[in-house]
This record gives sequence, C-alpha cells and structure tokens, in this order.
Amino acid sequence: MTMTSLFFEIFHYSLPRQGPGDTTSTLKALSLVPHVGPTTRVLDVGCGTGPQTLVLAQHSEARITGIDSHEPFVSALNARSRALGLADRIEARVGDMRRLDYPSGSFDLIWCEGAIYIMGFETALRDWRTLLSPGGHVVVSEVCWSQPNPPPECAEFWMREYPAIRDVPEMLKAIEQCEYETIGHFTLPTSSWWDDFYRPLQESVTMFRERRRDEPDAQQVAAQTQREIDIWHAYSAFYSYEFFVMRAR
Ligand code: SAH
Repeated sequence: MTMTSLFFEIFHYSLPRQGPGDTTSTLKALSLVPHVGPTTRVLDVGCGTGPQTLVLAQHSEARITGIDSHEPFVSALNARSRALGLADRIEARVGDMRRLDYPSGSFDLIWCEGAIYIMGFETALRDWRTLLSPGGHVVVSEVCWSQPNPPPECAEFWMREYPAIRDVPEMLKAIEQCEYETIGHFTLPTSSWWDDFYRPLQESVTMFRERRRDEPDAQQVAAQTQREIDIWHAYSAFYSYEFFVMRAR
C-alpha cells in the first residue's frame, strides 16, 4: 500500500465533503455573483465528490465542468449528478489544476472550495485569469487566521502544514495585487468544519486505525489526520475558512 492510497482510504469518496463547507455558505457566495444563468460556464476546481458542484447546479442554470486529480472522486460526482438528473449540466473530469488545458476565455466563473491552497492563492489567481472571460468571476474558500498571536502549538502546526496562511486583510491586499476586485467575503461558520467534514472524517480515521492497527505506515498516515482534527478542537478560535468573491479587472 502506498501512503497516497492509505490517505485516500481515510479521505474516502463516501465522505460528505473533503474540506470545510456547507450548502448555505455556497449559496451565499453564489448570490454575490451577478447574472449566473444558462449561458454561464463554470469551472469547479478541486471539485472532489462535488458537494458544492451539485448545489451550484441545483440553484442555477449554469453549465459546470468539475476538475479533480483523484479519479474516484470524479466518478462519484458523475454518478451523483446522473442520479439527480443533472448530468446534462455537470461534467466532472480527472485533471490537474496546475495544468488546465482550456482555450483562453473558456469560463465565466471559476469556483474553488477548499482547494486553492494546493496551488497557492496568488499562483492560482494569476494562472486562472487567462481561462476567464473578460470581467469573469472567481469564488474561493481558503483558511485564514481569525485572531492574532495563535498559541505556539497552533502556529507551529500551520507553519509546517501551510505556511502561506494569512489574515483576511492580507488576503484582500493579495487579491488587489493580482488585479481582481473583491465583490464580497465572509467567514464560514464553525459548523462547516465539523458537521460534514471533521465529524465523518473522525469516524473514518478511528475505523482505519483499528482496521490497520499492526501497520506502521497506516498508523503514521492516521496520526497526521488525527493531529489536524485535534489541533482544530484545541485552537479553532484562531483560524477559520473565508469565502472570497472576486471579479477580474
Ligand atoms: N471542493 C471539495 C474538495 C476539497 S479537498 C470539497 O469541498 O469537498 C481538495 C481537493 O483537491 C481534493 O478533492 C483533491 O483530490 C483535489 N486535488 C488535489 N490536488 C489536485 C490537483 N493538483 N489538481 C486538481 N485537484 C486536486
């Protein structure tokens, strides 16, 4: 078993989400984007199993392309959109967000929940811009410091896992520097981390540990995930997920 396949055994496609989020927040962000209609072409980057993709399709008439590097997630999303009768407007594909091979101006709206950290915020905003039609929108959710001076254990965790983490004012400056206008931004509720993400993930990691109790590699992968959840329980007051709704200048 490779470490990656062990990892995806914990982050299994049957989990409701692969990152923090909730339907209400997706809809709130969507409501900030003007004129989403039947001609709107949406690219959902790092779509995972598509919790937000399905919400976007159910609450707009837009056509959506989902991209994710993990094939089982893509298959799960395509199966769910077929079951919900949305397959004519959702097409999920396996792909790498770092090498998106579409002609320039192919999309009016790029959506990315809980996945922009993979490329880095500024790299993504600059790269994706060429895919956007003029004045197109980008909507992302990203982890941010919500309080200054996090305790050392919390700061050290994030410095190791994602040293690019910043506070919201710094993010707004970065957006400006990448030549986007911020239309709106808001903080996701604490429940968006727990209800559909860490709560089911905790069950998954607990069962995985038990099932693979004699396998050191598996225990190591489990310990990393457990650490992430434990840090959140201890220090969630210091960081949060923030939605940013932007328009290309
Ligand atoms: N938006 C989903 C998934 C977020 S987790 C949700 O909120 O549930 C991040 C996702 O990015 C995972 O599905 C992972 O498979 C995907 N991913 C990781 N690296 C990627 C890459 N290079 N290109 C495309 N997707 C990637």
